[in-house]
Amino acid sequence: GQCVAVCPTGALSEMDYSKEVIKALANPEYTVIAQTAPAVRAALGESFGYPVGTSVTGQMVTALKDLGFDYVFDTDFAADMTIMEESAELLERLTRHLEGDKTVKLPILTSCCPAWVRFIEHNFPDMKEIPSTSRSPQQMFGSIAKSYFAEKIGVPREKLIVVSIMPCVAKKFECERDEFKVNGDPDVNFSITTRELARLIKISNIDFKELASSEFDQPLGESTGAGLIFGTTGGVIEAATRTAYEHHTGKKLDQIDFHALRGMEAIRSATVDFDGLPVKIGIAHGLGHARKLLEEIRAGKSEYHAIEIMSCPGGCIGGGGQPFHHNKTSILLERQKAIYSEDQRMKIRKSHENPSVIKVYEEYLGHPLSEKAEKLLHTLYFDRSSQVTIDDSEL
Ligand code: SF4
Repeated sequence: GQCVAVCPTGALSEMDYSKEVIKALANPEYTVIAQTAPAVRAALGESFGYPVGTSVTGQMVTALKDLGFDYVFDTDFAADMTIMEESAELLERLTRHLEGDKTVKLPILTSCCPAWVRFIEHNFPDMKEIPSTSRSPQQMFGSIAKSYFAEKIGVPREKLIVVSIMPCVAKKFECERDEFKVNGDPDVNFSITTRELARLIKISNIDFKELASSEFDQPLGESTGAGLIFGTTGGVIEAATRTAYEHHTGKKLDQIDFHALRGMEAIRSATVDFDGLPVKIGIAHGLGHARKLLEEIRAGKSEYHAIEIMSCPGGCIGGGGQPFHHNKTSILLERQKAIYSEDQRMKIRKSHENPSVIKVYEEYLGHPLSEKAEKLLHTLYFDRSSQVTIDDSEL
């Protein structure tokens, strides 16, 4: 359909697919799968009276099961796959750059935020080769669910419905992009927001506060702390650094927490020592700040090797699909704390150590950037400068 959900802050009218989701859940012909983004569990509880910063992962899984989802999986699993592909791309470009290849494009930009991707396609189409070609976790999840997992459970892809629960309004138009469809069938059928899920739970008379905890289903529910921190500004690049460092140096990280990459300042930078190789990393959240970094690159003045950009203030924890609040920064800091402390508690905190991800590569994809991985997990960007868009100054 026509994409109207272009505003990541949720100020414009949203496409609400809740009705379509209810219809799919009620139709016994379909196997319906949920994937939930990391920022959702850090904010959903707010809609049910929990204090800000309460992580409600286990209850959220139970609520989705009660709503009738056949499988409840974790987008964090796919975030780990995004890191496998993106860190391989970073190391590949960096190695070629160090060998003196002048055709290589650096810095590499993260590309998991669809509002940000759209911003580049509209405003900086001359730089569309710079972002990582790795699909976002939402889209990697859909692609793997409708290929690898569909084959595993013996269900044809057209009988599988994938629903994503996202903190984000922009994710709705991401799943409508033609690149993410196979013969017209979208890899992710419907994307609904944290607020829309809260409403679905309420209208279904599920007493959220009384729910027991459940675990995500397997195998696409296994995740790491690295996948989880995708939800906050700085988290994607920290997750990529954990994996790229170990793959590049062949050494184990003693210190997994990269505090230099954390925080809430609008533009941050840090140099991470890859065993003698200084890797310069930039981070920006908010498109106005991102624009500054892009203009530096265009002018040939950027010193960075890798940059993480998120459109929303704070990253996805501040997404347009999250419960609304007035006192924003303190809320974002609480949600950020919820995410980092859950990462601390995770048994596995690096994407390349996720056993289910290792298995998908062994059984199905081969290795990051393999031909099959390129086909299923990567994408292209387009010049959309002639299309009508809203002024980014409003974002
Ligand atoms: Fe969506 Fe996250 Fe991007 Fe905001 S930062 S537009 S929530 S992907």
